[in-house]
Amino acid sequence: MNDDSAPLPTSLSVELPKADRTNSAKEIDARWSDDGSRILVARTVDPRVWPLLDAARPDIGALCIVVGLVLLVVGTARVLRTPRLAGRSYCRRCNHDLNAVVGVRPDPPRCPECGLALEGRGSAPGRSRGRRLARVIVPALLAIGGGTALFATSITRRQAPLGGPALLPAWPIAAASNLGNWSWWRRSTIDTPERFALRIDIIRVDTDRLWLEAPVLATRTRQWIARTDGAMVAWADFSERSEWHPRVEWFESGRGRGGRADLGPQGGGFPSICGWSPDGREIIALLQRTGTDYPMRDDGTAVFAVDVMAIDPDTGTVRTVDRGRGRATGGPPGGWLLGPAIAAVGIDPTARTVTLAGEQVGQGNGTSRGGVSLRELTVVGNGGTRIVTLDGSIVEDAYGFRRAWIEADGRLGVEFASSFGSANPASQGGPKRLVDLDTGKVTEPPSIASAPSDMDPAPRHTVIADPTKPSIAGKLSPDGSRRFNIEIDWSTTAKITQMRVRVDRVDR
Ligand SMILES: [Zn+2]
Repeated sequence: MNDDSAPLPTSLSVELPKADRTNSAKEIDARWSDDGSRILVARTVDPRVWPLLDAARPDIGALCIVVGLVLLVVGTARVLRTPRLAGRSYCRRCNHDLNAVVGVRPDPPRCPECGLALEGRGSAPGRSRGRRLARVIVPALLAIGGGTALFATSITRRQAPLGGPALLPAWPIAAASNLGNWSWWRRSTIDTPERFALRIDIIRVDTDRLWLEAPVLATRTRQWIARTDGAMVAWADFSERSEWHPRVEWFESGRGRGGRADLGPQGGGFPSICGWSPDGREIIALLQRTGTDYPMRDDGTAVFAVDVMAIDPDTGTVRTVDRGRGRATGGPPGGWLLGPAIAAVGIDPTARTVTLAGEQVGQGNGTSRGGVSLRELTVVGNGGTRIVTLDGSIVEDAYGFRRAWIEADGRLGVEFASSFGSANPASQGGPKRLVDLDTGKVTEPPSIASAPSDMDPAPRHTVIADPTKPSIAGKLSPDGSRRFNIEIDWSTTAKITQMRVRVDRVDR
């Protein structure tokens, strides 16, 4: 270094907020944006502001009901036991009629009957029985109603909600241990919320520092996509939270705001997020329509229509670009199983949209980690629709598709969702394939940047990281000039206390 400017730091780091809210049992997915300007770190978090208060909801609800009932019984009995006349004054303790003359406020300092000091709140104005009862019954019923609502929404009959822990603690524990078939279980505890969320921290990488941009809080989903610059993230939701509307949601970190759009009516199909339009302006999504009577083909599979849709995040406008084909297996009487499908939109008029249909195979049979078998391409352009049958080759370790795009040479690029990440430091996310739109030939893309041979994938730092997670260790930027590590403090058992992103320059 013989120039005057200060040398650039070789290492930058930034602390990730709310590390202790991270669910350490779930995978952490971190990647460079395609243009290398940002790093996105996605983790499963407990989104609650007050976990203790949330966990105590059934107890607070039950307390409100009990307080309301006591108020109702004691208050009503008190009103009925102490008859009063409107316009007179009474001793609040013994109900002695203090009026010598009707309508004149009593002036003795103490009750002549029981001796209570009558200054201030000692004497009570007489009111009609109806008004006195209303003053007892209305707040009592509000407490009972509010408590019941709070209780009912924080208790479940299911012992194991979808995606939740195997067994939730009963409410109250004493009743459950003494009675079989106890049906009141907590929906959430201090440690386990009813629903986890996906938090994506977006870190802008400058030459001399790292900037934390506004974080994304999404529904817990495997399939989220980032725009080329990493500043916008989109995902699909089809759950209780979207009230079973096929929905696409997005968030832009620079503007700190997001939006959502429904792809169809309630129950109108399964949405999946696919990628971005070639100009980066629209989000591409796919809707697999439900409720169709699929005609079965000779090989026992069925083909059904899927809509390739484009969403403009500026206006929320949804348009259907083309119609592709999805693929289902199984059939009656067990029901059709929709295979994974993904679509991409291109600029070539003969290949305006491409839909790729696959089949999930070997999942959970104990011998294989499973994969996606590639089955069929639907290419739609000005010349009409063209079907390309693929050889059915299996992409190992894949669970559905993650995103799709059209390469500069016209081939379809796809990334698969995977829990295993890629051991190749130059590869972000899950496995990838390129598919030729004419021949259907499937190839594995070459590494974008080659890793220096002496690179140490394990970070050298006082914070303990988990080097067994290849998705977060030593990832190279797209141009190969930098790499990041996620440094995680695991020193407390089963709890993450600290998370940090460190970016190092790579000398080549
Ligand atoms: Zn009295």
